[in-house]
Amino acid sequence: MRLRFLGTRGEIEARTRRHRRHSVLLVGYGRREVMIDCGLDWRKGLARLRPSAIILTHAHPDHAAGLRDGAPCPVYATEETWSAIAHSIIRRRDGRAIGHASIQAQLEWCAGAKVRRAVFTHCDSEIVKGDARASAAKVRALGRERGIEAWISHDGLELALR
Ligand SMILES: [Zn+2]
Ligand SMILES: [Zn+2]
Repeated sequence: MRLRFLGTRGEIEARTRRHRRHSVLLVGYGRREVMIDCGLDWRKGLARLRPSAIILTHAHPDHAAGLRDGAPCPVYATEETWSAIAHSIIRRRDGRAIGHASIQAQLEWCAGAKVRRAVFTHCDSEIVKGDARASAAKVRALGRERGIEAWISHDGLELALR
């Protein structure tokens, strides 16, 4: 199985070369690839990626708005996500107000579920604007405290899983 992090930026203004585009993860097995999320940044590039299927985690524009012109493949999402897309919910831009779970919180979930490795995407401005090495060290340390190997992905990162 392969993981390809094509985009790793959350819904923030800042962007850098390492975190340029909205979060997209391609999960590949054999010749097929399933795309996780398709934010606005991917509206144009979608046809070229040719995924076998798309899974939307939720309806926020940085996860779903890339599908405004339709999709070249089946799209899967929860009922809640579909209805949110249908009602085109408007979201406050201020990331803190909507707040996705912090890396600490997610590491707690991983520890609870006995997940041993965690790769973070959907980076916030602290990571995108900050020093990559310092952020990596911080996340590694947070993971280590909970017995988890943790790191931060960047656009273009590819991992092979056995
Ligand atoms: Zn998001
Ligand atoms: Zn969101």
